[in-house]
Amino acid sequence: VNQSGNNTDFLVVGAGIAGLATAAELCELGTVTVLEAESGPAQHASGRSAAVFIDWYGGKLVQPFTRISRTWFEAFSGGFEASTGILSPRGLLLVADYGDEKLLIIPTGNRIEKLSRTEVLGLVPRLREGTVSEALYDPSVADINVPKLIALHERRIRTRSGCQINGARVTRITRNKQSWTVEAGNDTFSASVLVNCAGPWADEIGMLAGLAPIELSSLRRTVCIFKAEDSSVGKWPLVHDAKGRFYFKPYSGFLLASPDDEIPSAALDAQPDERDVARTVSIIKKATTLAVNGPVDRWAGLRTFSPDCGLVLGPDPQDHAFMWCAGLGGVGIQTSPAAAMCIASFIDTGDILPELARTGITGRSVSPERFLNADCVGP
Ligand SMILES: Cc1cc2nc3c(=O)[nH]c(=O)nc-3n(C[C@H](O)[C@H](O)[C@H](O)COP(=O)(O)OP(=O)(O)OC[C@H]3O[C@@H](n4cnc5c(N)ncnc54)[C@H](O)[C@@H]3O)c2cc1C
Repeated sequence: VNQSGNNTDFLVVGAGIAGLATAAELCELGTVTVLEAESGPAQHASGRSAAVFIDWYGGKLVQPFTRISRTWFEAFSGGFEASTGILSPRGLLLVADYGDEKLLIIPTGNRIEKLSRTEVLGLVPRLREGTVSEALYDPSVADINVPKLIALHERRIRTRSGCQINGARVTRITRNKQSWTVEAGNDTFSASVLVNCAGPWADEIGMLAGLAPIELSSLRRTVCIFKAEDSSVGKWPLVHDAKGRFYFKPYSGFLLASPDDEIPSAALDAQPDERDVARTVSIIKKATTLAVNGPVDRWAGLRTFSPDCGLVLGPDPQDHAFMWCAGLGGVGIQTSPAAAMCIASFIDTGDILPELARTGITGRSVSPERFLNADCVGP
């Protein structure tokens, strides 16, 4: 076991949710240093999400990760209803406009309720009546307290003698037989295993290490925060349009709304486009009776996808001492505990996490190796 912060067993690049969760797991297996380019953790996608947990979201290859993560979230924070919890009940209302009723499908074994229009308005009194024909309600959907989750991982890393270095942008990676040498900020680090948790920049890190890129693609999504101006807002569920044109939910005394946009972007510090902000304002005006003007805050973040939209977890086929934890798309927060445990399992046993294997997920189905052949199929 290596001891100093500059010379460790594992170097994790990126302190978003993927990097922090993975580093906290790896602290069980050896010494860990996390290198983050920004002045603090979670300044990109991980600090800009809608912070929702939906266990049926993301397709068959993602759902087992989400379910295993739910067990972790609940065990780690005292249960679903606990005040210390990272998950708290929110519920999801999937609403269909007239003519869109056939889009009301929730692919889950959960208890889903079909609500009458009166019940819908009971839940969300400021929903504009003429815009909802039918709705489904899933009570299992939860809010994720992301700041609490980040703080929990940082505490786990600290108490297990891990080292987290902010303001350390990785600019050069070289390799000798035993270890990686990484230049970041004004310092040099070395480790036997490099873990790539750089979100939209993960291909860049792979190429710095002399490896083939996955060909990840990033899509920008806009979020606007509105004054709630109605005391009932805090109790509303997440409202999602069945046609995928918008969602909104309560957010710390305010209303968070997104136009569900997916604008291709390079890996960068995403900024909201004023046209997407204006569209969000008009969506909220159309869908609700709230008298919204401009948002009080707005931001944009990148959701980063692999070519088949599945997670990319595991050793690089060219160099097994380089681990990928990338392509977390729109599910990176809710799947992060299982993704991190999966990386630790690959490092510890050379195999996928047994709980995942029992659901039919194979090392191959998440491996970066699948992109070397043309036979990959989407989830
Ligand atoms: C609007 C929006 C809503 C979302 N809603 C949800 C949701 O409700 N539920 C959910 O589960 N997921 C959601 N997501 C997706 C989720 O936010 C992402 O999947 C997740 O945050 C990805 O985490 P990450 O750690 O891989 O990437 P990031 O958070 O982008 O972290 C990557 C880190 O790597 C660092 N880095 C990059 N290059 C270098 C370098 N050279 N050297 C050092 N550090 C480097 C970056 O600075 C960054 O901190 C949403 C995303 C968006 C944008």
